[in-house]
Amino acid sequence: MKILSVNAGSSSLKFQMYEMPEETVLISGVFERIGIENSFYTIKVNGEKIKKEVELPNHEIAVEYLTKELLENHIVDDLSEIKGIGHRLVHGGDKYADSVILTEDVMNTVEELTPLAPLHNPANLVGVRAFKKAIPDAVAVAVFDTAFHQTMDEVSYLYGTPYEWYQNYGVRKYGFHGTSHKYIAGRVNEILGHENTRVITCHIGNGGSISAVKDGKCIDTSMGFTPNAGLVMGSRSGDIDATVIPYIMDKTGMSIKEIDTVLNKQSGLLGISGVSSDSRDIEAGIEAGNERCILAQKMYIRRIINYIAQYYVELGGCDAIVFTAGVGENSINVRKQIIEGLQALGVKLDEEANNVRGKETLITSSDSSIPCYVIPTDEEVMIARDAYHFSK
Ligand code: AMP
Repeated sequence: MKILSVNAGSSSLKFQMYEMPEETVLISGVFERIGIENSFYTIKVNGEKIKKEVELPNHEIAVEYLTKELLENHIVDDLSEIKGIGHRLVHGGDKYADSVILTEDVMNTVEELTPLAPLHNPANLVGVRAFKKAIPDAVAVAVFDTAFHQTMDEVSYLYGTPYEWYQNYGVRKYGFHGTSHKYIAGRVNEILGHENTRVITCHIGNGGSISAVKDGKCIDTSMGFTPNAGLVMGSRSGDIDATVIPYIMDKTGMSIKEIDTVLNKQSGLLGISGVSSDSRDIEAGIEAGNERCILAQKMYIRRIINYIAQYYVELGGCDAIVFTAGVGENSINVRKQIIEGLQALGVKLDEEANNVRGKETLITSSDSSIPCYVIPTDEEVMIARDAYHFSK
């Protein structure tokens, strides 16, 4: 059965088509700069990568190109062969603990949740509508970034703010990257050979979050009400004392909106280093002796170590720590420093094994108190699995 996995952002659209249940990727691609000049798309098919520069004024046109490519490359002879389409939706609030069929009702609820994810939910819905129009017979399924974290209890998800803020305005921790954490936790349970596990999953990329997962269920996670909580990230601040905001408003005359932009786009590695949000540029800066790059990376790593230590205690021990996403899968140096920072827990790196990028690997030595793994994440296959589940 042909199943599409879709991730639509405000100016991009990523897709992968699978043959299910085999989980074979038939074609994948990404449309970029939708609605902006110099738009283009790249597709991978039959072992080849092709880039095409085309005008993409909106997502509907992108979906038109996508369907054209599916037909021209004989991935399908007719669009009716596509039975299900799974859509990544960022914010499901506390309404969805699992994936659901994207009915009009669900779409309305996702729209109502827009104030909680003003950048993401509307863009996700634009993608959903474009596919509903182009391939109306396929079952559309919503896969929420927040769903996996719905198993947290209120002790973990509430803030120390007035309870009425939670009751009246939904102020609480929701957590994100759930599809990735779920995939990683599932995969590591397969490696460990059982389900009764205490796992710390570290999704560290441009955005980053860490989750504590007990018996396959999330009990705590570092992102919060928005994806700007927790770790120091590429350009996001992560946790700060909220009182900094009125103080800086008072000092600089900046508006709430301006401060929000700074906290999301000009903070983190970028804000501290003044160089870049990209960890590769930070590493290059460190090589060149740039003091602020050195500081930025130290802060980035310290925050990760602190969350791992916190979740170790919260889980009552730990059976595995996993690194994934851009930095977690590829940065040998960042992983090394994190593991060295966990010495107090008896975690011991295997330097040779750690010399790996993007490949499932055990990177700790046999006498390490906790095994640590690199496991490449695969959110697309999770989305495809859920879409397949509802389309069978
Ligand atoms: P993601 O958001 O998961 O795509 O991750 C993006 C982050 O991964 C960026 O900060 C990249 O610099 C980082 N990254 C990707 N490849 C490498 C690499 N080979 N070494 C270090 N960091 C990398």
